[in-house]
Order: sequence, then C-alpha cells, then structure tokens
Amino acid sequence: MAASKLFIVIPCYNEQEVLPETSSRLRQKLQTLVQQVKIHADSRVLFVDDGSSDRTWAMIERLHREDPVFCGLKLSRNEGHQKALLAGLMEAKKHADAVVSMDADLQDDIEVIDKFLEEYAKGCDVVYGVRSSRKTDSFFKRNTALGFYRFMKRMGVEIVENHADCRLMSRRALEGLERFSEVNLFLRGIVPLIGYPSAVVTYERSERFAGESKYPLKKMLAFAFDGITSFSTKPIRFITLLGFLVFAASLGVLAYTFIRKWMGATVEGWAFLSCSIWMIGGVQLLSLGIIGEYVGKVYAESKRRPPYLVEKYLEGETASENGGNK
Ligand code: UDP
Ligand code: MG
Repeated sequence: MAASKLFIVIPCYNEQEVLPETSSRLRQKLQTLVQQVKIHADSRVLFVDDGSSDRTWAMIERLHREDPVFCGLKLSRNEGHQKALLAGLMEAKKHADAVVSMDADLQDDIEVIDKFLEEYAKGCDVVYGVRSSRKTDSFFKRNTALGFYRFMKRMGVEIVENHADCRLMSRRALEGLERFSEVNLFLRGIVPLIGYPSAVVTYERSERFAGESKYPLKKMLAFAFDGITSFSTKPIRFITLLGFLVFAASLGVLAYTFIRKWMGATVEGWAFLSCSIWMIGGVQLLSLGIIGEYVGKVYAESKRRPPYLVEKYLEGETASENGGNK
C-alpha cells in the first residue's frame, strides 16, 4: 500500500508566541515520517487562523512562502475552536487520506502521531488521543474537566473521557462528519456518532509552552453547556419527571387536606388554597415537560443528522458485470 497523505490541522487563535516553535517541530516530525515512508511526501500542516487579532496570520503566510509544507486557512472572524477545527478538517478532507487534529500549543504530544498512524494502518477510521494523566494541568482545570466528562456521560452523551480534539480521522470518517450539518458544534460528541472502526491511544499531556490558554472559565462553561444541550434531551425529561412527581405529591396533599378539613383543624379557605397550589404546580410542570418533549423532537429533526452511515457494502455481481469493484 502506498503511504497515505496526511494533513495535520491546527486551529490558531492569537498564537504568535507558539507558532515558530510549533511549526518547526511539526516540520521536523513530518520530515521524519516521510523518510520512514509512513506518510506520503505531499503531506501537509494546515494552520487555521481563527480570526486572530495578532500577527498569527502574517506568520502563517510567511511560513507558507518559505516552505510549501505549511498551508493556511483564514476565517473571516473569530468563530471559536470547534468551528475553526471543522473548517480545517473539511479543507483537509479534499486533499488528504487521513487528518490529524491538534492544538497549536502542542500540549498534545506530537509523537502520538506515530501511534495514530499505526492504528490507521490497521484499518481504524477514527483514532482518539486520550490524555493518560493531567499532572501538568492546574488542580482547577483537572477537576472541572473530570466533572465535565462525568456529567456529560450521565446526561447520556457518548463521549470519550479525557479525549480533547486530538485525533486522527480517515477521509471516510470526515465524509461522515460532513453529513452532520449542525450549527452547534461539539465535535467530541459527534465523532463517536460517526461509528466505523476506532481505537484509543494514550499520551502524556504537557504544559502550554508559551502564551496563555484561550479557554477561560467562561468559554469552558459555554462549551460544556453547548455540549449538553446539543446532545441530550435529558434535561427536558427531567422536567417531565418532576411534573409527575409534583402531581403525584399533590394527590397526597389533597388527601391530607381533606382529612384535616374533616377533623375541623383548618381555617376557612386553607384546604382550597393548598390543594390548588400543589395541583396547579404539578400540572404546569408536567405540561411544560410535555411541550418540551415536542420541542426536543423538533430540535432533533432540525439538526438533520444523517440517519445512518454505511460502513461496507458487498455488491452482488451479475453475470454481465466482470468485477470493477474493489
Ligand atoms: N482556539 C481557537 N479559537 C478560539 C480559542 C482557541 O482556534 O476562539 C484554539 C487555540 O489556538 C488552540 C486550541 O484552540 O490551538 C486550544 O486552545 P487552548 O490551548 O488555549 O485551550 P486549553 O488547552 O487551555 O484548553
Ligand atoms: Mg492548550
């Protein structure tokens, strides 16, 4: 099998401090891989400038001028990590057999690319890079991240724990991804939905070697919230459930109120008021939940996710055909 063409996609947002180092390390890595005939000589590094306000794009242009191994894609404005990454993946899909995505700060060990390629050669379409430990992350980041993955799982979102957006995807997997035309992008949730053979490889995550994190707490929370609301209607189910419970409780309250009234232990109007509050509360919550269920269905439909992706097709050959399939 001829060596496959690899694209490495790097979203960059105000990364002028890290780009010189990142680019030289990646160039080195690609050269080594080409020499080892693990990848095709036309493999590239694709930097996506996510509307940076510093010299990031100027640097990408210079890199491209000096060495054609570097390509660049500039978004018209800052769209956020996920969209920048998607833009890069979709561009790379047109040219490459396999695409690796990574962050510009190289917190994800680039040596993991070898392991990615091994799994890819074994026939995996998606290879997830998983952080084996988070020693270098701050206490805060480590625990919020852990809590996030747990919560997502509990909410019914299929997600690979401790896997950020460092992964390899084959062209076929990217074509699958393209068919998910949703606007609220949460790649970590979508990629597992693509299916196809996949594997997980682990690596040590290191510290950002320059510049600062482009993911402050506010962005992290927004990201988590987006993730949950784009993949799960469990919060809506929760309202329906709550409605049932309150309504059931209201029946208990009804009985209790009657007993109290018959015992003559109530003031005028109490029975009527306490029953009303519980019953109306219950009915309202339940109605909200039911409406929510329909809104959830509309939401799911409007995402227009592909109902299925075909992995293999064994064609029945007819007598008039003489092969031609692979
Ligand atoms: N990034 C981006 N657009 C943004 C924010 C971040 O393209 O609006 C990129 C950033 O340049 C980096 C990656 O997303 O390549 C991850 O960001 P960062 O390393 O700051 O996040 P952290 O590792 O702290 O979670
Ligand atoms: Mg980082």
